[in-house]
Amino acid sequence: MSMEGRTCVITGSARGIGRGIAEHLGREGANVVINYRSSEGEAHDVVETIESAGGNAVVAQADVSDRDEVTHMREICHEAFGPADVLVNNAGITADEQFTEMTREEWDRVMDVNLGGMFNSTQEFFDDIWNAEDGRLINISSVVGKQGNFGQANYAAAKSGMFGFTRTIALELAQGGSTANCVAPGFTRTDMVEGVPDKVLDRIVAGIPLERLAEVEDIAAVVRFLASEESAYVTGEVIDVNGGMDL
Ligand code: NAD
Repeated sequence: MSMEGRTCVITGSARGIGRGIAEHLGREGANVVINYRSSEGEAHDVVETIESAGGNAVVAQADVSDRDEVTHMREICHEAFGPADVLVNNAGITADEQFTEMTREEWDRVMDVNLGGMFNSTQEFFDDIWNAEDGRLINISSVVGKQGNFGQANYAAAKSGMFGFTRTIALELAQGGSTANCVAPGFTRTDMVEGVPDKVLDRIVAGIPLERLAEVEDIAAVVRFLASEESAYVTGEVIDVNGGMDL
């Protein structure tokens, strides 16, 4: 139970990668705050799964792009478990369009959630992470932030924006002993890739040396390492979890 007693807030954790991270950390003894925007039933399912494995979890509804709602999420966390040791900025959306067709609204929507949500949550929990002294900020970026991807100019810009943000926060946290890192998953089997046509997925897999998409657990295991005390001397890094896509 390497995460025993550590309080972890995971944004967008009712499903997909966030859910996998929440369940993994919960299994290892963490107190977990399950944030959701609209999937209330699924969020409660995650709590149940964690509790039936002997862990502690609570739900916190908040649209991460809304500062007041994120403030409320922090209050829920403090009331249930006290200050957070770990914040995982996982909530993210896509609004794909070839650039010439992309509307300013699609651009803004992706920035508001993917970067604005990270700003709001990080600022709300910054003092908690600092005061923990071995606190952890973990931002879920994407291989797309490194490589770009046709039709994802907004998403790629947001995801590579996370790299600079993480390195800067790593510097601002370092004196207190806490760390900030990014995880950059490759294509992972979740709802986000559900809509991708099989033909396109086959082409993607053909370009992955390990010859498969990532499973949620592949990402969760790396986040578990970064969230734990074992990663104390790793900060400002981007950890690729992409099956060797950039080899
Ligand atoms: P998903 O769509 O299954 O899950 C995203 C979660 O974020 C959902 O629970 C959703 O409700 C939540 N969310 C979205 N907007 C929110 C908001 N405003 N406030 C609170 N929650 C919100 O996607 P996923 O594949 O699990 O993606 C999780 C993260 O991993 C995202 O940041 C995504 O960009 C990143 N990522 C995914 C892949 C992939 O291939 N699936 C690859 C690289 C990176």
